[in-house]
Amino acid sequence: MDIKKSVSIIKRKAKTRDVFELVDYFNIQVIDIDLGSSTLGMYKYIKRNKFIFLNTSLDDFQRRFVLAHELGHAVLHSNLNCFFLEKKTLYLKNKFEIEANKFAVELLVDDKDLKELEGYTINQAAAALNIPVDLLKYKF
Ligand SMILES: [Zn+2]
Repeated sequence: MDIKKSVSIIKRKAKTRDVFELVDYFNIQVIDIDLGSSTLGMYKYIKRNKFIFLNTSLDDFQRRFVLAHELGHAVLHSNLNCFFLEKKTLYLKNKFEIEANKFAVELLVDDKDLKELEGYTINQAAAALNIPVDLLKYKF
């Protein structure tokens, strides 16, 4: 599956790269809910409706990448029932989680953004882009 290509098609069709606008575009309900201390977010497919649950404990930047990750499941794995994003999941090697992470980083980080950060270490670039280092690694 060419995730980079899927993301660029989606951006072009939806005419936006904003993750909040994209969840609207795909008719996905976003629900803020207390998911406890280890779960960041969740994607669920219930009776042909798509839901993304976001933990109310997330800050604005976390919200953005968790939403992008769950949107990846909604788009790439839409009919699979349920995914949880645990804090540890960013490091997991599960095929679906890797695909969702790749989707998220392609959506949130444009190749142009990276060009501007040439010479930065991956840690510096992640800080500048406000995304987790482990997510940015998929770009390399
Ligand atoms: Zn996931």
